[in-house]
Amino acid sequence: MIFSSRTLSLRYISQKQFDSLKEDTYDVVIDLSLTNGSLTYGELYLKGSTEYEVLFSCYVCHPSMCNDNLSGISLVTEIAKKLQKKKTKYSYRFLFIPETIGAITWLSKNEEKIQKIKHGLVVTCVGDSGNLCYKKTRRGTSSIDNAVIKVLEESKQSFKIIDFFPSGSDERQFSSPGINLPVGSLMRTMYAQFPEYHTSADNLEFVSPENLKESFETYMKIIDVLEKDKMYVSTFTPKINSITPEDLRSTLFIF
Ligand SMILES: [Zn+2]
Repeated sequence: MIFSSRTLSLRYISQKQFDSLKEDTYDVVIDLSLTNGSLTYGELYLKGSTEYEVLFSCYVCHPSMCNDNLSGISLVTEIAKKLQKKKTKYSYRFLFIPETIGAITWLSKNEEKIQKIKHGLVVTCVGDSGNLCYKKTRRGTSSIDNAVIKVLEESKQSFKIIDFFPSGSDERQFSSPGINLPVGSLMRTMYAQFPEYHTSADNLEFVSPENLKESFETYMKIIDVLEKDKMYVSTFTPKINSITPEDLRSTLFIF
């Protein structure tokens, strides 16, 4: 990045240089080129007894940030380790992706899998000492919303529920028009709402094992609610004037 103004031309700028800038209007020249490259992400799929999926997504792109990055990675890893040993109704997909561009890439490469995702959560900022905070899915009345809110209410702890807004983390990409996945985000203090956010103070001292553990246990309770929830699927092909009560009774299965 090159900063240029009447008095300044820098290829990179340090915090000290930034702090020394006078109040003025600056031109910012972003010097980049569009070339073929690569994007690396991690993905784990655990097969359940049905092909319907629960998605857990975290991002891996913030260098050195602990709550806003690493806490999500560690929590998703622990959930995956736990579920690997369990028989589940749902299949589970875990994504470790660069934020925004990684989600867009995964969605564009996996169109046939999108329909199978029935519930999802973006896991971020789960290690600080703030109360749990749930950002709802775009629709706001999805099963995952009900499951998370039920678990938070039963916890008897203080918590916060906020409506979806179209910025933030990868819940935006997963909820974008045409994709419309029911993906919320369960955090502690929401990104951008703590002073340590995107600074070197978001370090190991800012998170604690106790807070991570509480977040992890909450996520596992949500999984438990989803697993025990019944889903009714119609297997009936309607024929006009020929539906009998017996037909209706025999054309639903519950999983
Ligand atoms: Zn961030």
